[in-house]
Amino acid sequence: VTRVVVLDIEGTTSPTAYVTATLFPYARERYRGYLSAHAGEPQIDALLALMQREQMRLDALDVDAAVALLEQWTDQDLKRASLKSLQGWIWQEGFDRGELTAPFFPDVVPALRAWHESGITLAVFSSGSVDAQHAWFGHSPDGDLQPLIRAWFDLDTAGPKREQASYDAITDELGVAPGDIVFLSDVRAELDAARAAGWQTVGVRRTGEPQYDAGVGDHRETASFADLVITAG
Ligand SMILES: [Mg+2]
Repeated sequence: VTRVVVLDIEGTTSPTAYVTATLFPYARERYRGYLSAHAGEPQIDALLALMQREQMRLDALDVDAAVALLEQWTDQDLKRASLKSLQGWIWQEGFDRGELTAPFFPDVVPALRAWHESGITLAVFSSGSVDAQHAWFGHSPDGDLQPLIRAWFDLDTAGPKREQASYDAITDELGVAPGDIVFLSDVRAELDAARAAGWQTVGVRRTGEPQYDAGVGDHRETASFADLVITAG
């Protein structure tokens, strides 16, 4: 029985290269501009305070120090909640201005629409912030996909993607039996964690994606959402 499909984004619904080659540099170039433009707003004060805690600093961060830290974390690919939030806000502006469009693999949107129509609940679990996820699904080449998605989870709201506890938390939030949830991801360690929580798993293995060679271990495997038969229970 399948009641819920939980989607990873990078490498699963969408090409990883877009994130690394387009989105990250787009945000990185705008850290200073965004922090300056919104200086003094509550969300920026909260962000700077969060960064201070994450870095375990005693003194408050000014814009220069914050930008230096954000650039350092970006270059080290550290998934700090503060960095993810800021990136989400910057991307939201970019999407709203029409400077960014979120790519999806061609098989994804038709499958999501079909699953949604058949009564399956769709959710997202991504290391990108919930704000960034909304921006992403709200600006597909196929229009606004947000109405298809019922629940959104990120590192803040669920926890790390390679830990079973995060999937337990999502199960509680969704209010269904763990075995009624299917997780689609390109990363084996994430699939392992979801399986440990009692979920069904499908490894999405797309040619040309960074995780292709590593494979998905002994998880059920597909190269395309179009080949995936998921029926509502
Ligand atoms: Mg992924």
